[in-house]
Amino acid sequence: MKFTFDTSKAVDRLMKILAVEGTTGKEKKIGKTIVQLLREMGVASKSIRFDNASENIPLPTETGNLIVDLPGTIPGPRILLMTHMDTVPLCAGAVPILEKNKIVTNGKTALGGDNRTGCGVLLTTVATLLEQKLPHPPITLLFTVREESGLFGARFVDLSLLKNPEFAFNFDGKFAHEITIGAVGGERWEVEITGLAAHAGVHPDHGISATMVAALAMEEIYRTGWFGKIIKDGKEGTSNVGVIGNGKGGSAGEATNVVTDYVHIRGESRSFDVKFLKTITQTYRNAFLEAGKKISNHQGKKAKVQFHSRLDYRPFHLSEKAPVVAKGLSAVEQIQRQPICRTTNGGLDANWMVAHGIPTITFGAGQNEIHTVKEWIDLNEFLHGCQLGVVLATQS
Ligand SMILES: [Zn+2]
Repeated sequence: MKFTFDTSKAVDRLMKILAVEGTTGKEKKIGKTIVQLLREMGVASKSIRFDNASENIPLPTETGNLIVDLPGTIPGPRILLMTHMDTVPLCAGAVPILEKNKIVTNGKTALGGDNRTGCGVLLTTVATLLEQKLPHPPITLLFTVREESGLFGARFVDLSLLKNPEFAFNFDGKFAHEITIGAVGGERWEVEITGLAAHAGVHPDHGISATMVAALAMEEIYRTGWFGKIIKDGKEGTSNVGVIGNGKGGSAGEATNVVTDYVHIRGESRSFDVKFLKTITQTYRNAFLEAGKKISNHQGKKAKVQFHSRLDYRPFHLSEKAPVVAKGLSAVEQIQRQPICRTTNGGLDANWMVAHGIPTITFGAGQNEIHTVKEWIDLNEFLHGCQLGVVLATQS
C-alpha cells in the first residue's frame, strides 16, 4: 500500500501534546486535549468515551482510559491501536524544544516522549485515515492511564468498550522496527518485622532486633543466589530489595541506644516464567520467616514477621508464528525496515492485554533516554512509527 502523510502536521501534533502536563494518575488534561484533536479531525463525539477504570484503580486517578471506536469502511476483524497517555512524574513542567531531527528538553525535566510519541502515532494514524479516506476495518483506539505507576489502566480497562478486537498493536518504545512479543511478569512484596525495643546498653538481651532479623534474611537470600540476577536449573529471573525503613518514609530505628523494634522492607521479583516468579517471592518469604525464628530475647520471645506479596503483571511470550506477529512483521517490511522480534525485562500494558485474551505486540516510535532529564525524541523514528500505524490500520 502506498500513501504519504503530512509529516510537519504529525510533528506539530506531537509538540502540542508534549506541552500538556499529564503525569501518571493526572491524565485529565491530556485526555481532553486528545479528545479535542480527534474532534477536530472529524471523529464523532459519540465514538469517544472514557471508561470507569479510575474507580477501580487502587490509587487516586483523575480519569478513566480514553476509548475511541472508528467504524470500519471495509469488513474485517477489528484491530486495537493502543498507547499510554501518562508520563513519569519527572516530566511535570516539561518544555519541549524542537531541533532539526529531534525534540529535546531544557534539561530540567524529562520530556514525556514516553509516551506522547505513542499518542502522536495514534493521532496521526487517525488523521491520515480520515483525510485520505483510506479503507480500513473497524478500529478501536485505547489511550490508557497510569501505565507508569503499575500498568493500572490496561489492567482495569472496560473490556466491553473495546468491542472484541482480534489483534492489538501497542506503541511504547524506541525503534519502529523492533517488535516486542514478550515481557517479564512481576511481583511486589513487603515484609513487616516487629521486634521489641530495649535499652541497647543496659538490657540489650531484653530486646528483639528487627534489623538483625532483616539482615539474617538478606544474608541467606544473597548467599544462596536469590538476589539480583537469578539463574537456577535453567530458569531465570531477577529480584531486588528496594526500600528499607519504618514504612512511613523514615528510618528503621531512630537511636543507636535502642534495639530496633520495627523494620518495613519492600522488594520485587521478575521472571518470564510465572511459576519461577512465585518461587523467587516464596524464597524471600521463607528467608524472612526463618530469620524471625533465629533471634530471641532473654525470655525466648521472637520477632513477628508478616510477609505479603501481590502479582503486578503476568509474563507473556507470543510465538513468532502467531498471526498478530505476522501482521507486525509484514507492516515493518512495508515501511522498508528490517523487523526484529524481542522480549523485554520491563512490564508493558501488553502484559495485561494478553492476560485479557487480546494478542498484543508493541512497537517503538522514537523514545530515547526515558525517565531522565536527558530524554529526547528521534523524529525519524517517530515518523516511521506513524507510517507503521497507518499500515497496521489499513492492512487486511
Ligand atoms: Zn512507556
